[in-house]
Amino acid sequence: MSRIAFIGLGNMGGPMAINLVKAGHEVTVFDLVPAAVESVVAEGASAAASAEDAAKDKDFVVSMLPANKHVEGLYVDGAGLLDIVDKNTVIIDSSTIAPESARRVSEEAEKRGIAMVDAPVSGGVGGAKAGTLSFIVGGTAEAFELVKPVLEAMGKNIFHAGDAGAGQVAKICNNMMLGILMAGTTEAIGLGVKNGLDPAVLSDIMSKSSGNNWALQVYNPYPGVMDGVPASNGYQGGFMVDLMAKDLGLAFDAAVKSQSSIPMGAMARNLFALHAANGNGGLDFSSIQKMFSDLD
Ligand code: NAD
Repeated sequence: MSRIAFIGLGNMGGPMAINLVKAGHEVTVFDLVPAAVESVVAEGASAAASAEDAAKDKDFVVSMLPANKHVEGLYVDGAGLLDIVDKNTVIIDSSTIAPESARRVSEEAEKRGIAMVDAPVSGGVGGAKAGTLSFIVGGTAEAFELVKPVLEAMGKNIFHAGDAGAGQVAKICNNMMLGILMAGTTEAIGLGVKNGLDPAVLSDIMSKSSGNNWALQVYNPYPGVMDGVPASNGYQGGFMVDLMAKDLGLAFDAAVKSQSSIPMGAMARNLFALHAANGNGGLDFSSIQKMFSDLD
C-alpha cells in the first residue's frame, strides 16, 4: 500500500480520496475548506496543515483542483510542491485544465527528475463515489504503469491517451461533447413538456430510441424524473455550471490554436456562459434545463 497526499477535496476529490482510504492506502489530505477536510478525515484519512506538509515523504501526490491557476500555483508558482516532494514521488493531477498548462507543470517536473501524469476523469460525482471513474492519462508509458494501480482504486477504465497533455486534450473533447448533449437534451425535454408531455415519459421514450445518451441514462436534467441526481436535489452538488463553462472555454481555446471548427461546441460554450452570467454558476450543469423550462 502507498503513502498518498490528496490535495483538493471538493465534489470529486472528496469521494476519490475516500476510495483510496478504503483501498488501504495511507492518505494525507489538504483543502482550503476545513469542512471538506473533515469529511474525508472522518473516513480514515489524516489531515495536513498545508499542501506542502501533505506532500512531504509520499509515494504519490494526487490533486483535484478547479482550474489552470490552481494547479500551476500548487506545483510551480505558489506552494511549489515540485521543489518539496521526494525525487521518487509520482505526481497525478486529475483536474481538468488546459493541455499547455498540464505540459508546463509536467516539463517542470521532468527538469527535476520527477514523474508526473495528467489524469483528468470522467464519470461525475456518482462515478467518484462508486469508484467507477474513467481516468484519461497523459504521460510516459513508464509513468502510466506507475500510476495505474493507484487510479484503479478510484476508477474502472484507465486509458493512456498519449504523452503529457494528451489526457487533457481527450478530456476536453469529451466534455465538449457532454456540454453539447446536455444542452440538446434539455432543449428536447423542454420542447416536449411545453407541448404537453410528461418529462419522465418523454425521457423513457428517448432513452430507448435514437436520442439516447448519457444524460438520459444516468443524469436526467429534469427535476423529479430520476432519483439521486442533482436535478432532483435543487441542482445542488454535481458538476458546476462554472466548471462546464471553463471546460468549453478550454475546448474553444484548443480550437482556435489548431484552427479547428467547433460550431456546436461554441454554441454550448455561449449557452453555459450565459447561464452562469444569469446567476447559476454554482448550480449543477444540468440546470441548463432552466433555460428551456419554467422551473422556478
Ligand atoms: P470543486 O470546486 O467542488 O472542488 C475543488 C476543491 O479544490 C475545493 O474544495 C477547493 O477548496 C479546493 N482548492 C482550490 N484551491 C486549492 C488549493 N490551492 N489547495 C487546496 N485545495 C484547493 O470542484 P470539483 O467538481 O471537485 O472539480 C474538480 C476538478 O475536476 C475540476 O477541474 C473539474 O472540471 C473536474 N471534474 C469535475 C467533475 C464533476 O462532475 N464535478 C467531473 C469531472 C471532472
